[in-house]
Amino acid sequence: MVSPRVRIAPSPTGFFHVGTARTAYFNWLIARQDPDGVFVLRIEDTDEERNRDEWVEVIIESMEWLGFRADVGPYLQSEYRSAHREAAAALRHGNYAYYCDCTGEDVAARKGEDKTPGYDGFCRDRGLQPTERTALRFRAPLEGSTDIVDEIRGEVSFENRVIGDFVIAKSSGDVLYALANVVDDRRDAITHVIRGEEHLANAPKQVLLWRALDEVTGETVPLPTYAHLPLLVNEQRKKLSKRKDPVSTMAYRDEGYLVEAFVNYLALLGWSPRGDSEIVDRETVTGQFRLSDVSHSPAFFDVKKLAALNGDYVRRLSLDEFVQACLPWVDPDHATFVPTDRRPPWAPEAFDADLFRRVAPLVHERVTTLGEVPAMVRFFFESPLVLDEDAVNKVLRQDASGALVVRGVLEVLDDVEWTSSSLHALVVAVGDKVGLTLRRAQAPVRVAVTGTTVGPPLFESLEILGRAVVRERLERALSLCSAS
Ligand code: GLU
Repeated sequence: MVSPRVRIAPSPTGFFHVGTARTAYFNWLIARQDPDGVFVLRIEDTDEERNRDEWVEVIIESMEWLGFRADVGPYLQSEYRSAHREAAAALRHGNYAYYCDCTGEDVAARKGEDKTPGYDGFCRDRGLQPTERTALRFRAPLEGSTDIVDEIRGEVSFENRVIGDFVIAKSSGDVLYALANVVDDRRDAITHVIRGEEHLANAPKQVLLWRALDEVTGETVPLPTYAHLPLLVNEQRKKLSKRKDPVSTMAYRDEGYLVEAFVNYLALLGWSPRGDSEIVDRETVTGQFRLSDVSHSPAFFDVKKLAALNGDYVRRLSLDEFVQACLPWVDPDHATFVPTDRRPPWAPEAFDADLFRRVAPLVHERVTTLGEVPAMVRFFFESPLVLDEDAVNKVLRQDASGALVVRGVLEVLDDVEWTSSSLHALVVAVGDKVGLTLRRAQAPVRVAVTGTTVGPPLFESLEILGRAVVRERLERALSLCSAS
């Protein structure tokens, strides 16, 4: 048995699509299942109009975050431009390709009402020489079919007539994707081409190119096995849209998704683990994964399910792990990758690691993503605390009860034992005195001390903040309350 050699071949498009992340994972799994398996990362950067260096970086950074280490690469397809041109020339010499000077309009005009897609073969036998206007077209067979063996879909047959003569190199001589990709897969001795379903229609063209290259180079390279992974769809069962759906892998990192939760979720996009639990780590998936078990029906990319799974993973962290994982979102000195609009809203010197450690248990059970943590713990670090205007108006100013509660709490604050349970009893007692339930009585205290109406458990938070800070904030709030 030949050990698998697999690859992902993303193009630098500005972001790393969640579908590419899934493709990367499934390829990586196949390589890791064999001690001699090889995983190649090739960046297909030959479309110069669409590529930028920083976009190459996005691919590398995403792969690093996901932990899918490549055995070969990352390397740039553009490094092999001359090999691609040589292959195009060899196909031309072997009469597998011909020059064509037709424009799209020429072809359309000739076809008239006939809407059959593809090229009409006009230049096939014209024997044109290359000029600055001639593209190079592959001469596809006119009859018969090209069959591909797909691990997920079985045998898929394409009629050659429908494939048509396709362009393999532009008039500039630049080789297009289908051929460059085949030349590289041959050189990398790829055994399995595992990629998204949108490339299924390219497969027969690539098989034809592969066989033609076998002929013209005199070097027979075994054809890879194909596996086209199911389309990812949104809630409306439509193909994920780059504009409307959250498809950027790094945006999940930036929002505070845990990489292991994200990778776990990727495994569920078209594949299911054995047993009842969908919580499966890389080792488990490596043991169980088979391409033949991947479904060919579209897979719903369910952000809500991903969020819930992330919440489960957050809950499974030990307190120490949780504190560590939160640092990029709460400690400005650790916020290396966090985008500016997600940086902690306080200065580096305002962050207190010991204090955060005491606060962390209050939020550990309550967040879905780590990016939610700063808003929940803001009142521990922000100075002066910014009060939410709406909350102040609604809770402190609407009627006299806000002032009554705040004043009532301030009156006995110095006498209370500083524990969450005593503080709880104190607010209950003040509420009783002014005729308010605990829920209504604690609202003014929460707004006064935390600046907003929602947050971690109030009495535990007060205990951690300490008497002096709580007093100062209640006094400030009292000055904002409507006169009672
Ligand atoms: N560059 C192609 C893409 O980004 C790769 C296709 C393939 O894996 O063959 O979709």
